[in-house]
Amino acid sequence: MKRIAVLTSGGDAPGMNAAIRAIVRKGIYDGLEVYGINYGYAGMVAGDIHRLTVDDVGDTIARGGTVLYSARYPEFSNVEGQQKGIEQLKKFGIDGLIVIGGDGSYRGGAALSKLGFPTIAIPGTIDNDIPGTEYTLGFDTAINTVLDSVDKIRDTATSHVRTFVIEVMGRNAGDIALWTGIGSGAESIVIPEMNFSMDEIVKEIEDGRRRGKKHTIIMLAEGVMNGNEFAEKLQEYKNYHTRVTVLGHVQRGGSPSARDRVLGSLFGYNAVQLLKEGKGGLCIGISGSQVVFNDIIETLERKRDVPYLSLYQINKEISF
Ligand code: ATP
Repeated sequence: MKRIAVLTSGGDAPGMNAAIRAIVRKGIYDGLEVYGINYGYAGMVAGDIHRLTVDDVGDTIARGGTVLYSARYPEFSNVEGQQKGIEQLKKFGIDGLIVIGGDGSYRGGAALSKLGFPTIAIPGTIDNDIPGTEYTLGFDTAINTVLDSVDKIRDTATSHVRTFVIEVMGRNAGDIALWTGIGSGAESIVIPEMNFSMDEIVKEIEDGRRRGKKHTIIMLAEGVMNGNEFAEKLQEYKNYHTRVTVLGHVQRGGSPSARDRVLGSLFGYNAVQLLKEGKGGLCIGISGSQVVFNDIIETLERKRDVPYLSLYQINKEISF
């Protein structure tokens, strides 16, 4: 293996730059040439590919987003698109690829591996929703960003004795809501992995009020329903008036946390190591404190375990 390439795809996530930097530096350290592909699979097919130097990734580890830009490119689901992408890589003499992204990006990587092109996938998404790893790049930064906002919302909620519904991202996964719910002392956490009843939520609000609590926070995962819909249902149910905050894309930005910088560096380093050993068709993850490697195709077929789902019950017992 002489030349490898890296791309970022799907939603950007803090920590992607740390992974790119590690890939470039480790690759060059090992005597490889490293290429960057701009705009994910769209850039691959268009040949938007350029050589990266040690200096190109200087001063990037602390930056959010991705210096390689990202894009959605649905055409890559077709085998013709994938073959065009491989042709472009071959034109540049590239013989191994690292893809950083979410499960859609993994599917692209799996397709390339099936076609015989050595590809390694790194989990990069704030949603923490990829099987085969306990943490994805960007999750830690996102939950810290959410907590920062919820702490501010709590000040105003307390001053006006209000109930806030805070909608957070996560697609179909409740991890962001779960971790920020417990981390902010939310009275209720509503996530797609667990059934909820308005009865229970009303009880949680009223228990707090009886104890003299001046604020109520309901942390809602977007995968359940949107914040306004939830607030309307609560109002219909018990005539509760709530304020809704949709945190939105602020959750995707910002300088990566220490943990995401270290995870990105670990993942990037190991991805290069795997390609150097002639391995492809694998995805990298973290389990306990160990870096783990799994088959991409098998991983995509697996249902994801939600690590720390026990936090849901713990919150019920400590947030009243
Ligand atoms: P996030 O979950 O953070 O948004 P993601 O990687 O899941 O990230 P997607 O938009 O689902 O984001 O996928 C990113 C890109 O991966 C798509 O635009 C497409 O180019 C490619 N992709 C998605 N699904 C497939 C597939 N089945 N086969 C090949 N390529 C795919």
